[in-house]
Amino acid sequence: MKILGIESSCDECSIAVVEDGKTILSHVVATQIEFHKPFAGVVPEIASRKHVEWILPVFHQALEQGGLSPGDIQGIGVTNRPGLSGSLIVGLTFAKALSLSWKVPFVGVDHVLAHLYAPQLSAEIDYPFIGLLVSGGHSIIARVSGPLTVEVLGASIDDAIGEAFDKVAKHLGLGYPGGKVIDDLARKGNAKAFQFPFANLYKSGHAYDVSYSGLKNAVINQQDLFWDGESPRSIENICASFERVAVDTLLKKLQAACRDTGINRVVAGGGVAANSYLRDRLQGMQDIRAYYPPLDLCTDNGAMIAGLAFHYLTAGLRSGLDETVYAKVPGFRRITS
Ligand code: ATP
Ligand code: FE
Ligand code: MG
Repeated sequence: MKILGIESSCDECSIAVVEDGKTILSHVVATQIEFHKPFAGVVPEIASRKHVEWILPVFHQALEQGGLSPGDIQGIGVTNRPGLSGSLIVGLTFAKALSLSWKVPFVGVDHVLAHLYAPQLSAEIDYPFIGLLVSGGHSIIARVSGPLTVEVLGASIDDAIGEAFDKVAKHLGLGYPGGKVIDDLARKGNAKAFQFPFANLYKSGHAYDVSYSGLKNAVINQQDLFWDGESPRSIENICASFERVAVDTLLKKLQAACRDTGINRVVAGGGVAANSYLRDRLQGMQDIRAYYPPLDLCTDNGAMIAGLAFHYLTAGLRSGLDETVYAKVPGFRRITS
């Protein structure tokens, strides 16, 4: 069954065709990063306008790349939650139009669940596993028992980890997005020069939750408090010290989740899964087997949407023309599917 997947929730306009939830037949990703760089963050108005401009050429390119014609496609998946409303609407409206004219079903897909499905497109990974979704908008630890069975165990109560990287980078004048730049600088720094604080979340009531606003604030406004008083106050040292705490915060919770559930397979996804310190640390953990999808499947892409939509559609799920978009998914942190 060939499914066309559409992703337009943020600043990537992407369309892919995936067969049986596994085999990528075509995959086009058009990124808008250059247009948002001057603002050091995604500007929703610009994002939705670019999607309107790009979605049709991206669609044509995706069919062409796979040597496909409309008659080959048996279903459509489209991200309709969570994300920027204006951007989501472009993809959803496009999906509705295609579904009407091709007379094939379409289904709205949850972007976060799709990120957790993405690794299945590059490897055969047995369920259950602990999913670690680390992206610009999310930091989630989940027990993933099947494509449609995801239980969120913990999440950030404030900023996402990628957001913290981007905001720290913006403050240090390192440009946007900041994750890769901080990663590269951190490799040359001393990660103990600053002892930035680990958040203490005893009040959240959820054992695997994390928080990043305190860490971000410490790096931006309170560096003096955490400096060892000797090491050079170099940008490399600040980046390395920040990165260590940002990543270790999550990994402590991840290790606890693995221990408590008895599951030792870990699958990382989202843009921050590209971080070299995170990868080294995961690789070095005893008793944990870590998987990462290639980078183009870590960041936003239509293939993960098509892949997950296959499972929604074969389970009989369908969206109607009254389907709408959701900027946030109510209760998402604990409720899934
Ligand atoms: P969401 O899926 O939560 O809506 P998003 O799709 O915008 O968010 P992604 O595109 O998956 O997020 O990831 C982008 C984030 O990944 C950015 O915050 C970026 O700084 C971060 N990032 C990319 N490479 C690295 C790296 N090497 N180290 C740390 N962070 C990184
Ligand atoms: Fe994403
Ligand atoms: Mg992105």
